[in-house]
Amino acid sequence: MQQLCSFSLEELKAWMEANGEKSFRAGQLFEWVYVKRASSFDAMTNLSVPLREKLRTHFSYPSIKQLRVLESEDKETLKFLWELPDQKRVESVLILSGDRRTVCVSSQVGCPARCAFCASGREGLMRNLSAAEIVEQVVHINLHLAPLGERVSHIVFMGMGEPLENYEAVVKSIQLLHAPEGLNISQRRITVSTVGVVEQIHRLAKEELKVNLVLSLHAPNQHIRKKIIPYARKYPIEEVLLAMDAYFEETKRDITFEYTLLAGINDYRTHAEELAMLLKDKQCTVNLIPYNPVDGLNLRRPEKEKIEEFRAILEERNINTTWRYTKGKDIAAACGQLALQRVPPQ
Ligand code: SAH
Repeated sequence: MQQLCSFSLEELKAWMEANGEKSFRAGQLFEWVYVKRASSFDAMTNLSVPLREKLRTHFSYPSIKQLRVLESEDKETLKFLWELPDQKRVESVLILSGDRRTVCVSSQVGCPARCAFCASGREGLMRNLSAAEIVEQVVHINLHLAPLGERVSHIVFMGMGEPLENYEAVVKSIQLLHAPEGLNISQRRITVSTVGVVEQIHRLAKEELKVNLVLSLHAPNQHIRKKIIPYARKYPIEEVLLAMDAYFEETKRDITFEYTLLAGINDYRTHAEELAMLLKDKQCTVNLIPYNPVDGLNLRRPEKEKIEEFRAILEERNINTTWRYTKGKDIAAACGQLALQRVPPQ
């Protein structure tokens, strides 16, 4: 059995032809999944019953099952828990902000990066998600939005996992989410966040689809970065920054650096000054994310004044900053709070 949402329209056409069906059936099928938001094969009423039966024996759709939805108190963040075909679980977050309907997708079960401040990597990597398992997170949330007359407008690869360590499936999922006959989400509205996997950043720069790329920098120098991001040992800060420059050159997309502020670790005045020097000639934005608490970690978020001071130092030195207002903290849906969900013992 293959997962339907890993197939592009072209691949479905080829499948139809190889299986004695007219190729336009592929267009109908694609439309049912991505445009008409069908929740199963049963709903695809302009496909004959025998064809639906045939599809059911070859393809799984849906491949992931919604187990739970939690809504934050302010109703602007929803967290979805999914069960995968092998009973593993992942989460996605829907963020409602003005007209935007942003889905934060997971790309792996667990995460190999094991950053010191993040819940997602505490038990390492369990497995990669398939393209379908990534795409369906968006497809089902889009279905959830249908009764409200709304649709997903933006996608960020900022859920559980390191997207560039699941390169093929992530790129395939981007192509599928972008497909004009389907969800048709523009490449400018798709953002990939990475801990900094140098060779994969270079590879992504050469892809046809130019998505936004965000680097989790989190430190003004290699010494501090190495302490909080194990991947920094393999990929020194200078190489990561050069790869980001190359991505900028190739795609002309502005660069964003994420900087999670951790009290006493990377939040000193001197760190802000050093960071401004490091980024001096770059056309970039620094997105400051005050640390969100993770159970069992002995880390603290800096005081508000400290964050404001850090920001002011960057701004004075002409570095653009944004301050990510933390959303969904009451449902553990904020950055870094998506953790491995275990199946409770029977
Ligand atoms: N693996 C990708 C996606 C991670 S999640 C990456 O490293 O970029 C998105 C962002 O949230 C990353 O910048 C990540 O470092 C940050 N983050 C992780 N844990 C956090 C926490 N507890 N508080 C604030 N931000 C956190």
